[in-house]
Amino acid sequence: MNVNDMKQIGVIGAGQMGGGIAQVAATSGYDVLLVDANRERAETGKGKIERILQKQVGKGKLEAQVAAEILARIMPVAGVDALGHAELVIEAATEEQALKIDLFRRADAAMKPGAILASNTSSISITRLAGQTSRPTQVIGMHFMNPVPLMKLVEIVRGVQTSDETTQLISALALQLGKTVITSKDQPGFVVNRMLVPFLNEACFVLQEGLGSPEDIDLGAKLGLNHPMGPLELADLIGLDTLLSIAEVLHREFGDDKYRPATLLRNLVAAGWYGRKVGRGFYTYDDKGQKTGRAFER
Ligand code: NAD
Repeated sequence: MNVNDMKQIGVIGAGQMGGGIAQVAATSGYDVLLVDANRERAETGKGKIERILQKQVGKGKLEAQVAAEILARIMPVAGVDALGHAELVIEAATEEQALKIDLFRRADAAMKPGAILASNTSSISITRLAGQTSRPTQVIGMHFMNPVPLMKLVEIVRGVQTSDETTQLISALALQLGKTVITSKDQPGFVVNRMLVPFLNEACFVLQEGLGSPEDIDLGAKLGLNHPMGPLELADLIGLDTLLSIAEVLHREFGDDKYRPATLLRNLVAAGWYGRKVGRGFYTYDDKGQKTGRAFER
């Protein structure tokens, strides 16, 4: 297959990453099937994309006609069974290994021979997911960054069995989507999250141990390290549930206590305070995602 043969892309998971991937793919002219656990959630995901595009139209950054064309290319569907015609499926569902294994088995059974099955996972082994399918040479990691339309990087992860052809095709596609590519071996967290997640987790320890306030920690990283966002703000953006899942994978797979997740992070996730996507994490957010204050006092 050549990158120009790709017409239809399936995206599994219509959350913040799946929605972003669908938006970017449709903007580049691909037909997108947007799948979630049920049709209603898939429709909700498309609704969020519509609001993002309308905002751009309102600011004069996008023509109304172009926004309408992008939206018309995104079709919400109820389940993976609808992915039979897609040349590529990108899985971006919740970061849980058992869920992804189930989705990989079902998507593989529905997809046509030769089609590629990619995962946007932040940490789960691509080789393990590939092992659930009849097409391990055509399984690959395609790790977009958040927010997808704004962030330039795609980290491509080769599983043990991923073919050169699949790697070249997915790299070419990422370039067509306007992204820059790095490649990583299949190890927990790959390149980006192997560096980032211990840093964010350490920020949780710094807060938990009372070294500073959330604002001290975030300002420290912004003004002291020249980071565009502080680690607690970034953790809230990523989603604390997702961050904890990645930290648990690093801890479990490497068997090294330096990766143990902070108790504070576990507690916030246990409370359902997942960050910006639910309006509360380390900070609180209004319905436009603007920060409104601290979520808790120590
Ligand atoms: P999210 O919580 O915003 O979205 C997850 C979506 O998966 C939800 O819409 C949920 O309904 C859906 N889902 C759950 N079960 C499903 C099923 N059986 N079938 C179809 N869809 C199902 O999470 P997210 O932040 O979009 O993360 C999704 C993936 O992207 C994860 O693997 C995560 O590690 C990865 N990722 C996240 C970030 C980030 O910053 N959040 C960055 C890069 C990669």
